[in-house]
Amino acid sequence: MDEVLIAGGGIGGLATALAVLRAGKRPVVLERVAEQAAVGSGLSLWPNAIRALDVLGVGAEVRARAVADASGGIRDAAGRPLLRVDAAALRERFGEPIVVHRAELMAILRDALPDGVLRSGVGVTAAEESGRVVTTVGERHAELVVGADGIRSVVRRAVAGEVEPRYAGYTAWRTVVTPSEPVTEFGETWGRGQRFGFAPLADGRVYCFATANAPAAASGSGVGNGVAGVRGGAEGHDDVAASFVRMNDELAELRERFAHWHAPIPALLEAADPAAVLRHDIYDLPALPRFTAGRIALVGDAAHAMTPDLGQGACQALEDAATLGAVLATDADLRRYDALRRPRTQRIAARARSMGRAGQLSARPLVALRDAVMRRTPASAQLAAMASLLDWAPEEFAPTA
Ligand SMILES: Cc1cc2nc3c(=O)[nH]c(=O)nc-3n(C[C@H](O)[C@H](O)[C@H](O)COP(=O)(O)OP(=O)(O)OC[C@H]3O[C@@H](n4cnc5c(N)ncnc54)[C@H](O)[C@@H]3O)c2cc1C
Repeated sequence: MDEVLIAGGGIGGLATALAVLRAGKRPVVLERVAEQAAVGSGLSLWPNAIRALDVLGVGAEVRARAVADASGGIRDAAGRPLLRVDAAALRERFGEPIVVHRAELMAILRDALPDGVLRSGVGVTAAEESGRVVTTVGERHAELVVGADGIRSVVRRAVAGEVEPRYAGYTAWRTVVTPSEPVTEFGETWGRGQRFGFAPLADGRVYCFATANAPAAASGSGVGNGVAGVRGGAEGHDDVAASFVRMNDELAELRERFAHWHAPIPALLEAADPAAVLRHDIYDLPALPRFTAGRIALVGDAAHAMTPDLGQGACQALEDAATLGAVLATDADLRRYDALRRPRTQRIAARARSMGRAGQLSARPLVALRDAVMRRTPASAQLAAMASLLDWAPEEFAPTA
């Protein structure tokens, strides 16, 4: 009965399995997708997440993928700076932010687990506070059940009932390209109702992302569109957050929207492969009243799916995992996990949503005002605003004297 059953083998579930092992317990991860495809996109991991990865024993491997001395900020469509990030000061104060390929991070987490922990192709269909779990291959009883099953979590029903994800009003594209010229900068460019961002990966490829205001699943041929396999296997995670993924014509739409923006955006779009463009509508969760109930705890998007505007969703899942491990290793009091994680993640989710609203403004006067305020924000103020996100320190795994 010392089994910790983790529903979902995404970043949150795999990281939780590592934390559970560190706490001296026996994790079993049930992942409904049989084989996770290696396609995907980039992921920013901020210094708070790297500290969590250190606790899980894989920080050094992720750090090895850092791109040294990259600098950047937010610009307007013509390439004029709106908000500069003092990258050197950020590194010195908080540590290195890193952009990895998602598939790489998943592989690092998976490879760090002993054989047999991850059971792919098994879905969880129901969970109860008692620790009873119904799966697609039978029933199990666990000391603790962790819902790491994403924004449309099944496990969450036993903690918070039916909770409807909220559409944020915009859609997002992601792709990874091999550019003809090296890119050493990262950054976002904010236009009217649409944004484009890029960040170099350690191997010379560049992670690109873009957003645009759109009704949910409205354009094109809508949900499914004959890519059901892609929807389930595009990344093996946050697929359930997608209202649809269309590959055909996505690159054409991106080029139409952004190919006239500043360099290197046109060249990046030129180098993109139409078959490797992912599109997901963006949803988040309303604030849950609790993250735990009986023998159940929620981590990651199941607990606090947030819009990607701060690049913190997976980072917070990693913090959740490290914190849950520390709680299990000490007093095993899930109320403490809830108290440590719920206020912080819900504050960050609210901030991400506001940031998304500002980024997606489309009315000319509001965009002009926004841009003027950003131009006047000193880099030092920008850095100070990041402190509450990035200053996080992990809990101790042993009780302090
Ligand atoms: C466009 C976009 C950009 C983003 N960029 C960033 C970024 O730069 N940095 C960052 O930190 N975050 C980012 N995020 C957020 C990040 O992707 C998520 O927060 C993170 O993937 C959540 O991980 P998770 O393991 O909690 O959930 P998921 O990734 O959703 O994983 C859940 C897993 O559970 C499985 N599953 C689902 N239901 C069941 C079931 N019933 N039984 C068994 N298995 C099940 C799924 O197949 C999946 O593998 C971004 C998100 C989006 C949409």
